Amino acid sequence: MNILIINSGSSSIKYQLLNMPSAQIICAGIIERIGSIDAISSFTSKDHKIERTCTINNHREGLERITELLLDSEKGVIESTDNIDAIGHRVVHGGSTYTKTTLINDDVKKSIKKLSPLAPLHNPANLVGIEMAEAIFKNAQQVAVFDTAFHGTIPVKAKQYAIPLPLYDEKGVQAYGFHGTSHKYVSEKANAYLNNQKTNVIAIHLGNGCSITAIKNGKSIDHSMGFAPSNGLIMGTRSGDIDHSIIFYMVDTLGYSLSEINELLNKKSGMLGLTGYNDLRDIESQASNGNQKCMLALEMNAYRIKKYIGAYTAAMNGLDAIIFTAGIGENSSLMRKLVCQNMSHFNIVLDDAKNDLRAATIREVNTIDSKVKILVVPTNEELEIAQQVYQLLT
Ligand code: ADP
Repeated sequence: MNILIINSGSSSIKYQLLNMPSAQIICAGIIERIGSIDAISSFTSKDHKIERTCTINNHREGLERITELLLDSEKGVIESTDNIDAIGHRVVHGGSTYTKTTLINDDVKKSIKKLSPLAPLHNPANLVGIEMAEAIFKNAQQVAVFDTAFHGTIPVKAKQYAIPLPLYDEKGVQAYGFHGTSHKYVSEKANAYLNNQKTNVIAIHLGNGCSITAIKNGKSIDHSMGFAPSNGLIMGTRSGDIDHSIIFYMVDTLGYSLSEINELLNKKSGMLGLTGYNDLRDIESQASNGNQKCMLALEMNAYRIKKYIGAYTAAMNGLDAIIFTAGIGENSSLMRKLVCQNMSHFNIVLDDAKNDLRAATIREVNTIDSKVKILVVPTNEELEIAQQVYQLLT
């Protein structure tokens, strides 16, 4: 079965075509900077690599470009759009209705639209991706895999906010949790590595968005992002946890509008707001050249993660492993070191030499004596989505 995975973001579309159940990647790529005259489209297959800069005005044109690349008579990988059997769409917010991978119909699309105010950067783009894919790949089954689904097991005591009850009961104001596809994938890999399904693990996903999940016996029981993908850890451009009184102060005393604050907290804060850079590679290189702001931002970032590790160890009454994953978690030995230093009280002891080695597979970077395993697990959201689509359809 040929399954095309589409991850449609606000200004990009990532895609990957896999053959299932073999999990063979037929091709993969990304369309970046949608809406500009210098959008970049990339395509990589076993035999070819294509990268081109061109005007891509909107998601429709982005998906048309992907289709052209797939069908290219010289370098393409399929002969007709009918060669795609199914499309797996990453959808960020499924609310409390969608806790499982779901075949898309009109009701599902309506729900994704209705949930857009809860994930304004993501759900509208996800929906456009679905509608475009339906128009182009007419014979493919369209499936939604929700980022929130894995967190459907979080108990009420952890997901409800201490605000008047009708907001929870009637209006759906609660913590939902995100990056679920990644947290599920890496925690299952970790449990397989530990050869134990009855574990207490903490998965730390550090990419442009960052989140941390407490996973007991394979189930999410608490998570740092809440109602929207903005709470919790310090991210590339998002603040993570802040005292909500700051918002009232900014409106009442400093004269900000709510939309300015929304923009500021989501797009101008986090590591960008602290340092002027949002790519961790730039921040690390600045810090190593003595940039104090960058060094402090790295320490703040690690300190926030440490606090969540402490809280989630208490919530689970134990800890077998912590997992680092995604762009920063997999690649930044410095961030892992800052998080794990002075954690011996929690039986977390990093082996510096192992931590500095690089590998593309799951690896253990703790000392032999460390009771808690420190694992680096490469995430693979596309494969996880493909597996879920395949399971649903077969
Ligand atoms: P997304 O959330 O967009 O999927 P990724 O998981 O690709 O993000 O992570 C992007 C982040 O990973 C960026 O901040 C980038 O700086 C960081 N990153 C990638 N490679 C490295 C590296 N070698 N060292 C430090 N950080 C890295």
